Amino acid sequence: MNSIVIAIDGHSSTGKSTVAKKLAKALEYKYVDTGAMYRAVTLFALRNGWIHDGEVNTSQLISYLPEVNIDFEYNAENFSNDVFLNGENVEQAIRSMEVSENVSFVAKIDEVREKLVQLQKEFGHEKGIVMDGRDIGSVVFPDAELKIFMTATAQIRAQRRFDELKSKGENIKYAEVLQNVKHRDDIDSNRKNSPLIQSDDAIKIDNSELSQEEQFNMILKLAEDRIEKA
Ligand code: C5P
Repeated sequence: MNSIVIAIDGHSSTGKSTVAKKLAKALEYKYVDTGAMYRAVTLFALRNGWIHDGEVNTSQLISYLPEVNIDFEYNAENFSNDVFLNGENVEQAIRSMEVSENVSFVAKIDEVREKLVQLQKEFGHEKGIVMDGRDIGSVVFPDAELKIFMTATAQIRAQRRFDELKSKGENIKYAEVLQNVKHRDDIDSNRKNSPLIQSDDAIKIDNSELSQEEQFNMILKLAEDRIEKA
């Protein structure tokens, strides 16, 4: 069977990772969550005290970037990949509100993007991969055989993220989550280097009114179709 590259981009909290993970499992493909990579670098910067009120100490972060080692390891418990920062499993730590509030500032830094895009290209060079993020179809794999662009209203996305954080015991208000979702959309869409855009050849899916099941079946069918043609 032919292997292809599947790029899933879109707004934050659209359920990209959930569908990408399921798809990778169904196709026996690798899965890479690129948002987790930007989050891991953000955690590294926060732990070193290099981010204050949205201001990143860019020169410090850049000079220590060669020491930031990011990797994924399969976790059989949840059938997923956990992200590792310098050998430490940070899968839980990178999902905190503090990281969410700061990650878009870190993701704007050219040197950070260069490093992570390079790594992402290496992860996918043998194909047979599902990668989700913001610039996968536009920058990382412009030749991906299947490109999906996922979106939903900001309110629905915030509600989903709110429910998820609540279920993990975070003490948080819906309004705060909505503000974070809108703020990240704004920074991600307007940054100079590889902003969040829908590639011309990407298939747009607005999942505001779709169940996870409906959406998964739709994307799986598209993938099977592309694999057959590859
Ligand atoms: O996907 P997730 O919401 O975890 O991504 C966190 C943040 O990482 C995004 O809001 C964005 O700022 C950044 N990101 C990016 N490019 C990617 C993936 C994520 O800039 N390919």
